[in-house]
Amino acid sequence: MKTFNYHSTKDVKEATKLASSSSAFLAGGMTTLPSMKLGLASYKDIIDIKRIKKLSGIKASGKSVTIGSTTKHAEVANSKEVKKAIPSLAALAEGIGDPQVRNRGTIGGSIANNDPSADYPSACIALNATIHTNNRKISADKFFTGMFETSLKKGELIEAIEFQIPEKSCYQKYPNPASRYAIVGVYVAKHKSDVNVAVTGAKACVYNEKSIASALSKNFSSSSLDSVKISSSGMNSDIHASADYRANMVKVFAKKAVDAC
Ligand SMILES: Cc1cc2nc3c(=O)[nH]c(=O)nc-3n(C[C@H](O)[C@H](O)[C@H](O)COP(=O)(O)OP(=O)(O)OC[C@H]3O[C@@H](n4cnc5c(N)ncnc54)[C@H](O)[C@@H]3O)c2cc1C
Repeated sequence: MKTFNYHSTKDVKEATKLASSSSAFLAGGMTTLPSMKLGLASYKDIIDIKRIKKLSGIKASGKSVTIGSTTKHAEVANSKEVKKAIPSLAALAEGIGDPQVRNRGTIGGSIANNDPSADYPSACIALNATIHTNNRKISADKFFTGMFETSLKKGELIEAIEFQIPEKSCYQKYPNPASRYAIVGVYVAKHKSDVNVAVTGAKACVYNEKSIASALSKNFSSSSLDSVKISSSGMNSDIHASADYRANMVKVFAKKAVDAC
């Protein structure tokens, strides 16, 4: 590992002032530290944001649940507020990695990293989330821009993620047996005026599967998906699953999610 400067900050202003094109924020460190150790990434400055109090915690209102960016997966999984307002979101957090990862990894780190197989990006799309940063609000459909890419600017810090509470929702995934990342994961959410079907693991970036969402908007039942065809064009193909297999899984897991709503 190359040498770097370690900064531990207590407020957002200080953290963003220290940020540069050769820095990274340190939240759970579950991605940043292994990447540095393996020589895949190197930074001049590591800015530890774990001690910034305002970035952690969960608040629920009648319409939304807001989760601070350094809130750990285990905290979301065990939160009474999340379990009551959006049980599918607590279940998603419970299915991430293993206990060590859930007790270090954070929601902000997960969505900033935007791994193509990560679980939380699908929750953001399905639950019409708003990402609050230190200087603006970004809707989830404009946040995830490509493989490991987001619309965050250099040094921009995620403060919280606000999820809209749906009428019904469920997340189903086929986990990689080693890491638990999604080989394919489908998050179905029925809101008052629309249905979202967010898919992770299948393509380079999370996306809303409009063909399934449109069928469910007309008739929210798994049988309404029988005639829907999912193309394998642009789907990932690797040692775990071919593109065709992933395309089939998108529909199978969407049906499972609808049935479990
Ligand atoms: C063995 C293993 C298994 C895993 N399994 C799963 C799984 O099943 N599903 C899944 O979804 N994930 C999985 N993960 C990912 C993990 O859950 C973490 O969410 C992820 O590694 C990043 O979160 P972190 O808090 O550790 O971020 P860090 O590693 O600290 O940071 C990652 C990146 O995000 C940036 N960042 C962090 N916080 C912020 C912020 N507030 N604002 C702006 N940028 C920020 C950093 O600059 C850095 O570039 C797994 C990881 C491991 C190591």
